[in-house]
Amino acid sequence: MRLLILGGTTEASVLARHIAGRSDLMPVLSLAGRTRNPVAPPIPHRMGGFGGIAGLKAYLVDAGIDAVIDATHPFAAQMSNHAAEACRVLKLPLVQFTRAPWHPAEGDRWLAVPDMEAATQALGTAPRRVLLTVGGLQLAAFVAAPQHHYVIRTIDPPETAKSLPDHRLILARGPFALNDEIALMREECIDVLVTKNSGGGATEAKLEAARTLGIEVVMVERPKAGDMPAFEELDAVMSWIEDHRPTP
Ligand code: NAP
Repeated sequence: MRLLILGGTTEASVLARHIAGRSDLMPVLSLAGRTRNPVAPPIPHRMGGFGGIAGLKAYLVDAGIDAVIDATHPFAAQMSNHAAEACRVLKLPLVQFTRAPWHPAEGDRWLAVPDMEAATQALGTAPRRVLLTVGGLQLAAFVAAPQHHYVIRTIDPPETAKSLPDHRLILARGPFALNDEIALMREECIDVLVTKNSGGGATEAKLEAARTLGIEVVMVERPKAGDMPAFEELDAVMSWIEDHRPTP
């Protein structure tokens, strides 16, 4: 069974490690190529965009893919939409392997917003000290609010950070520990945390730190997911794969 795994996430890595070495599955892990030094995957992989829906359809046909597992990040909406459309046209089975969103707990001061522009507006007009953990791709929105001081944390150096007038850049990859997150927010006198509702344990400590310190959180909610089946557990994805083996 030939599987295309759309990756770039912990979920895709977990799945790749789980099926590596299995002789009954022929997986290809697809990475967008955004991370500068990606860890070498344990299964065959390809790198870079497909060239839109048409390019993806051509790839799926050429590679003889039997089923697609969309394990992209919950905010990688374009790739997910392209996969949904290409699989619909080619009548290929498609499943999402995703992670549960975070939910506010008692004591949280969350303000849910639909996108990065709304997050920028939610910071208000008065200058604030903002911890920005929204990834490197969507920082440009904050250029519209130059009155704030930004502490930006990303994995790779972001291009757009330079256009933010007042900022400090921290390059770091999770998981992050609660004590370190509390120390960072204290040292930087953070007033507000801006984050995407990515979910997952590796970066959750910042939310607990904000709760502990009574810091407001501007939470950018996920883009709407398509109506394909979606699982959060590896076992469920493996069962789905078994159920979608092509008939000989
Ligand atoms: P996106 O906006 O949904 O996709 C933009 C374009 O990048 C897609 O149209 C596709 O190009 C290419 N692409 C995305 N994921 C790909 C994959 N797995 N394999 C091959 N091409 C891919 O995606 P994004 O938000 O830029 O995310 C890019 C990658 O980073 C994804 O692998 C995602 O899982 C990962 N990631 C994203 C976030 C986030 O917050 N967005 C966070 C952590 C990791 P073509 O149209 O040319 O095919």
